[in-house]
Amino acid sequence: MHKRLIIIGSGPAGLTAALYAARANLAPVVFEGIQPGGQLTITTEVENYPGFPGGIMGPELMDVFRKQAHRFGAASLYKNVTKVEFRSRPFRIWTDEEEYTSDAVIVATGASAKLLGLPSEKRFMGYGVSACATCDGFFFKGLNVVVIGGGDTAIEEATFLTKFAVKVTVVHRRDLLRASKIMQEKALRNPRITFVWDSVVEEIMGTEEGGKKAVTAVRLKNVKTGVVSEIPADGVFMGIGHMPNTALFAGQLDMDSVGYLVPRGRGTVTNIPGVFAAGDVADSVYRQAVSAAGTGCMAAIDAEKWLAEHASGVAPHYESSEAAGRSS
Ligand code: NDP
Repeated sequence: MHKRLIIIGSGPAGLTAALYAARANLAPVVFEGIQPGGQLTITTEVENYPGFPGGIMGPELMDVFRKQAHRFGAASLYKNVTKVEFRSRPFRIWTDEEEYTSDAVIVATGASAKLLGLPSEKRFMGYGVSACATCDGFFFKGLNVVVIGGGDTAIEEATFLTKFAVKVTVVHRRDLLRASKIMQEKALRNPRITFVWDSVVEEIMGTEEGGKKAVTAVRLKNVKTGVVSEIPADGVFMGIGHMPNTALFAGQLDMDSVGYLVPRGRGTVTNIPGVFAAGDVADSVYRQAVSAAGTGCMAAIDAEKWLAEHASGVAPHYESSEAAGRSS
């Protein structure tokens, strides 16, 4: 099956790209992947997405994104891409069952917060366990939270959380932080932050009484002494890093040492003409839904221009700048 534009990924970046590309008459197809709607579907209330003064639940926000894109002719395929071939044209994209070809591709596969792998962490995700202080910190006003990790993410999250929580405990598996010196110093000076060194989280404890889930404590183990302890906590923030979802593109798209895609210049153009990158998959710094949506819009505009200029046989009927949504 041949498409003009395939979008891989269905978070804010992928679905915004779909909206803009649909309005440019490109009839984009979105491969929604294993987590349709992306990372926001594992959060609860989103209070920092502009346009929703009363907040909106993450999954609902992504439904709204999807509906808006579908309204203009984008289609979703609830399939996972398992292989791509971008070194020949048309581009080839495989799912478990089928092969698709496409003139242009927007990669918006996002990033996934690294998790510890504990069943309890999964059980309380969105109910006390979070991987995004910017998104969820506000819910912990006046409460105790634990941040796990010793890198810049953990230390930045811990510092941010002191705006809300009365006590932030950073649990790190070594006795030396990996975070940049300046961030370390700031955190070490912060009276609301306490450090527990050489310790790993063995279990996240909580209650599910009356169907209401909440975190109550974490059980720690000191890796040097073997001593097991428990500290009360209302929230647990994972700060052990993110992994961009780019394994699929290894050897084809340029990546940095961690695996984030590296677009050329300020736009979304990758090293392969006709393949564009948007959202967290190419952003290790901001990682916000609104910034992902912004780059999704950019990728659709870049793709539309590229198709008009380079794929003459299959170029879309080019209407006007309004078709790309620029005047809306
Ligand atoms: P990092 O990989 O730098 O740090 C991850 C931290 O989590 C490390 O301290 C690591 O421990 C710990 N960790 C990893 N896995 C586990 C585990 N299974 N159990 C317990 N602890 C674990 O990731 P970051 O997300 O912090 O940073 C990624 C990149 O993004 C870095 O380059 C960073 O500088 C950058 N960044 C920059 C920011 C800024 O400048 N404002 C903000 C956030 C990130 P250990 O140290 O023992 O390996």
